[in-house]
Amino acid sequence: MHSNCIWITGASRGIGAATARKFAAQGWNMALTCLHSTDLLQALKQELEDQFHITCRTFTADMGDYAQVASCMEDILQTFGHVDVLVNNAGISRIGLFSDLSPGDWQTILQANLTSVFNCCHQALPSMLREKSGRIINISSVWGCVGASCEAAYSAAKGGVNALTQALAKELAPSGIPVNAIACGAIDTDMNGGLSVQERTALEEEIPAGRFGLPWEVADLIWHLTQTPVYLTGQILRLDGGWI
Ligand code: NAD
Repeated sequence: MHSNCIWITGASRGIGAATARKFAAQGWNMALTCLHSTDLLQALKQELEDQFHITCRTFTADMGDYAQVASCMEDILQTFGHVDVLVNNAGISRIGLFSDLSPGDWQTILQANLTSVFNCCHQALPSMLREKSGRIINISSVWGCVGASCEAAYSAAKGGVNALTQALAKELAPSGIPVNAIACGAIDTDMNGGLSVQERTALEEEIPAGRFGLPWEVADLIWHLTQTPVYLTGQILRLDGGWI
């Protein structure tokens, strides 16, 4: 029997971990990756395998590095034989003036947020095309739609993710493989852990919904995007409480 398999990048915490919990509860097998937090990812694997009796493979690997992604994919195919859904969630953000952004910072941010999406799509697609099925969901940001002050590299990278989503959706529509993105607003994860209480309150006041989004709300939308007709493709869905 074909059991469903999802590959979630950046799954040690935040949106990625919430997504892993959502799909594990539905009985999906999964491949999870993170950059450094091997212990967190191992604990999540244990939790999900014990609670939901699924198979979970974990990888500590840099999704911005093509060779590391290729070696994950080789293992995933050996273990599961296919990937039904790829969620490109890995990402980092840095806040600072454009003039303080070094060429090295620019490379790091582009690699983690944008090159990672190229790498994982490029590796996952041959098997999706062979199987004539699959879905790609990219986790982007509203800053990729409108740009953020003091987050130029991040905005450029997420803007690139949005354009890549739309381009790939067109290219893959004839094969029935939908590619969509979720452009998140402010989501309550460690990524926003550096905000002071005042900064957080100011942001909440700007957001019409009056609060940050929650990781499970993103996971829920990802789940729904795996249930929609494949005719829904190339969309950048803003999940931002009406903010932008
Ligand atoms: P988080 O910092 O809690 O988790 C990020 C995850 O990505 C971690 O598991 C980390 O190990 C992994 N990661 C980072 N760089 C990686 C790399 N090069 N290779 C492999 N894994 C890597 O962040 P989060 O808030 O859960 O963010 C998840 C995604 O959502 C990111 O792409 C982020 O840009 C996007 N997003 C978040 C917010 C927000 O407000 N939290 C808003 C908009 C978009």
